[in-house]
Amino acid sequence: MKTGSPEETMALAEKLAGHLKAGDLITLDGDLGAGKTSFTKGLAKGLGVKKNVSSPTFTIMKEYKGTDLALYHMDAYRLEEGGAEMGLEEYFEGDGVSVVEWPEMIENELPAYRLAIHIRHIGDTAREIRLEPAGDRYRILCEELMENERTGN
Ligand code: ADP
Ligand code: MG
Repeated sequence: MKTGSPEETMALAEKLAGHLKAGDLITLDGDLGAGKTSFTKGLAKGLGVKKNVSSPTFTIMKEYKGTDLALYHMDAYRLEEGGAEMGLEEYFEGDGVSVVEWPEMIENELPAYRLAIHIRHIGDTAREIRLEPAGDRYRILCEELMENERTGN
């Protein structure tokens, strides 16, 4: 998929949020400034999070309360020890949705089943957003999302 502005990226994420359930894991990769945190802001809006979502780079993990689901937002960019001993499983099994920026830094700590989202610059304000589902749950989720995009829901 392609978006032409931060607002479009957030709107896409907001739609995705409507398909998520507790225990879901989304990873976001792409260069600095690609739009990973912007995407997360859209997800948060869709989950009914009232607080402003900011980049968690200095705290690694931030937790937000949504209407039905919590949002666990992690940024592994500055993690050096690979994320072990952080008790991450607790979040992945928790009653919220986990979003991980820079998953490659903690690959060994992450469940294999996830919706991997790759964001790439294709212009000043244009981005390519590619959804890569791993596992049946996420494959079906992507099909539903694409179907909704086609029918304009
Ligand atoms: P990351 O978390 O990947 O480092 P951010 O979301 O913090 O990236 O920053 C992305 C920046 O790019 C923001 O300043 C945003 O306004 C800008 N931007 C421009 N076009 C887009 C787009 N289509 N989608 C997302 N962000 C965009
Ligand atoms: Mg970021």
